[in-house]
Amino acid sequence: MADRAKFQAIKGVRDILPPESALWNRVEQAAREVFGTFGFAEIRLPIFEVTELFARSVGADTDIVKKEMFTFDLHASQDLEVRRDVMIGRRTSGPYDIQDTELQTVHEAEIQVGVFIQIIDNAIREDRVARTSENVRALDGLQTLYKQFSAICESYRSSFPSEDPKWNTEMQTLFEGIASYASKLNFGSLVSLRPEATASVVRAYIEHGMQVQPGNVKLYYMGPMFRRERPQKGRYRQFYQIGAEVLGSSDAPGIDAEVIEMLLAFFERLKLKGAILNINSIGDKNCRPAYVERLRAELQVVREQLGADSQRRIETNPLRVLDSKLESEQAIIEKLPRIAENLCAECRAHYDEVKRQLGLRGITYQENWRLVRGLDYYMRTTFEIIAPGLGSQNAVCGGGRYDGLVELLGGPATTKGIGFAIGTDRLVLSLQESGAGEVASGLDVYLAWFGAVTQPAAVKLARRLRDAGFVVELPAVEMKFGKSLGLADRLKARHAVILGEDELAAGVVAVKRLSDGTQQKLSEPDLFSYLRAARNS
Ligand code: ATP
Ligand code: MG
Repeated sequence: MADRAKFQAIKGVRDILPPESALWNRVEQAAREVFGTFGFAEIRLPIFEVTELFARSVGADTDIVKKEMFTFDLHASQDLEVRRDVMIGRRTSGPYDIQDTELQTVHEAEIQVGVFIQIIDNAIREDRVARTSENVRALDGLQTLYKQFSAICESYRSSFPSEDPKWNTEMQTLFEGIASYASKLNFGSLVSLRPEATASVVRAYIEHGMQVQPGNVKLYYMGPMFRRERPQKGRYRQFYQIGAEVLGSSDAPGIDAEVIEMLLAFFERLKLKGAILNINSIGDKNCRPAYVERLRAELQVVREQLGADSQRRIETNPLRVLDSKLESEQAIIEKLPRIAENLCAECRAHYDEVKRQLGLRGITYQENWRLVRGLDYYMRTTFEIIAPGLGSQNAVCGGGRYDGLVELLGGPATTKGIGFAIGTDRLVLSLQESGAGEVASGLDVYLAWFGAVTQPAAVKLARRLRDAGFVVELPAVEMKFGKSLGLADRLKARHAVILGEDELAAGVVAVKRLSDGTQQKLSEPDLFSYLRAARNS
């Protein structure tokens, strides 16, 4: 028997199946509704972007960018290989040797260069390689050299130029020219699957000149993100986020508080219990550098007591030491200087006002001085939401103000931003753990028909029920009574509607409520009102 491979989803990615997918839909629907009432509109973003965008916005020095991104070349890898071969003069049987006067070798090289030109020509025509003036010039150059190459080959076609020094020089120059033009072709930049979406939102904001829109630009998104992390409960390589961003010229603390209010309203709508809001202020470019230096100095003193990661971060990013989860470092970290005591007057006032504004919205929070973001453009407000039932992966949402990001990515310096990203996988997990994840079976009616003559009536009745919004399962072939009703039970239908030849003749159907087995005969209008009433009960 032929060996049939069994395919499995690759490590760290998973299928979301019914009935769990119904919970996902409920979560996403709630986000759309709640965010909509706060004046947010959806932005649908690409799944991949140039790598440089993430390197710049997430930070070239972060784990995400250094180790976790899935990066690839937009260009077909086969084309790249051909170019490499042309540039190093490689053919199937081994490297070219300019000294090699065998006509065989030279003709193989000639063919390879010809094929390469064809590939590039097609790639540009098919838009796999950009039609830039550099690329067009390089291709023209290649074509010219190729013609010369062919002409030389033609002139030597019959005689063997073994002792002709002119042949060698000519070929040498040609190969160098070809390699040089080939290297000038720009095959496009590297791209990465998005590890998060704020970078894309800001890129889109700038690209579409959204700063001219009145008021703040308020956007939300939802979809998959990709990070090459060690898979475990609540941590996947393809995971999902629902996020929102406010971009505009104001950094009023009321915006921060309203974004947090919206987030909590969303969790409330989902009946998520026991979520805890942590907040902090990490200062801005005026006061944070001095604090970071103080922190670094203190860390140097305790250096030997820290683990390898934290030791490295003393140099690269001292703030990140604060979110270390290493047990042995906790007591040391508790004694480090705190940002709250090092904020400048403006940042302190901003933070105080955010807290007052949360208060007037009736929002309770915990201040957590260790809640930091390691990147320069993050400033002032940071927040995180912890949900129960998630073990050590208990952060369902992270967010904060990033007033420097729009400028960093080439947009107006006056645009400020704040946003958050919810880990949908973890949110769903937490809802399931706390019993708020039940989604009732949606099947209103299992329409059991018996006897070939009833089938047309059953088909039409199913359609009328569906048009009225009821969920209907209609057996495609006639089944025995017991089997059919058994299936209705197993599908967790709320009602079996039975249509046999007798019912058809009498213009009624029999309706059986499957929870208690009660049965009655109803006319079609009565059936509709009965089902409607059952839905609302
Ligand atoms: P963590 O500290 O848990 O790794 P993070 O700081 O990397 O989180 P963010 O980049 O702030 O997370 O992303 C926001 C949210 O996205 C997190 O709070 C979490 O709920 C979710 N998230 C991040 N990475 C993953 C992942 N690999 N799998 C599932 N959810 C994730
Ligand atoms: Mg992480």
